[in-house]
Amino acid sequence: MTHSSLEPILRDRPVGRYAPSPTGDLHLGNLRTALVAWQSIRRQGGIFILRIEDIDRPRTVPGAEERMIEDLRWLGMDWDEGPDVGGPAGPYRQSDRDEIYEAALARLKAAGLTYPCTCSRRDLREASAPHGEEGPVHLGDCRNGIRGANPKPRNGASTRFRAGLDPVVEFNDRRQGPQRFDLNRLCGDFVIRRRDGLWAYQLACAIDDALMGITEVVRGGDLLTSTPRQIALMRVLGLPIPEYEHIELVMDDEGRRMCKRDGSCSLRSLRAKGLTPAETRELIMKQPILNHGDTETQRIEHKKF
Ligand SMILES: [Zn+2]
Repeated sequence: MTHSSLEPILRDRPVGRYAPSPTGDLHLGNLRTALVAWQSIRRQGGIFILRIEDIDRPRTVPGAEERMIEDLRWLGMDWDEGPDVGGPAGPYRQSDRDEIYEAALARLKAAGLTYPCTCSRRDLREASAPHGEEGPVHLGDCRNGIRGANPKPRNGASTRFRAGLDPVVEFNDRRQGPQRFDLNRLCGDFVIRRRDGLWAYQLACAIDDALMGITEVVRGGDLLTSTPRQIALMRVLGLPIPEYEHIELVMDDEGRRMCKRDGSCSLRSLRAKGLTPAETRELIMKQPILNHGDTETQRIEHKKF
């Protein structure tokens, strides 16, 4: 099975997904997102997919995928397609999808929508690049050729997507209402392949959602600003765009965002206390949440690149 033609799979039912990164154990915030996405699709009699987002290989923790799968199954979740059960839209691990991302990149390149960039964050700061929500905005200083200072950088060049050519993205978030972003203000031309050769999250996620025939993306509110970038990529590639629902982030008792590193938020610790799956599901869904109006939602550090 190959997708190198970038043909989305045809589906006749709603399709949802949960797409965790195997960088550690799932915490209760992740699990709430997973449960909301899963319940939505099961209510509609649709297809649920588990996709492992392991493109950031240096951050991938050996064994984490198996532990996640075990946790999700213990909780009572199931999926119709995934790395452990197969399916028609695989592979379901991003690390196995290089050829597909290469094909997408080739298509963008051929359309003149990419360019190599050697700017470091420091370069952008020193050039007084305007500051967007996610750091300095790259407005394409090197879109007409690599900048003079770093013509042949030792570490290679990243590849940027010319988002600035068609920067306005609008969509209707199922939970948060109408959204409008200007990519020139949010991030400018953004990286789709890193200088170390790794695929950027924005490219891999957009291509996978489109080709796997996902019709609804339910995910954490911290990814709201990724969505316009992903839609911009799907748009220029003529791919179908799913519906989005960004759910509120979970807080701990002191009002901070749940932390992955904090062992107290892990499912493993609840299991160790002897809670049943049903009790655990109830507890997960009852967690206090951040409302989308809270400014903290906007300031959450964007962990994926
Ligand atoms: Zn640059």
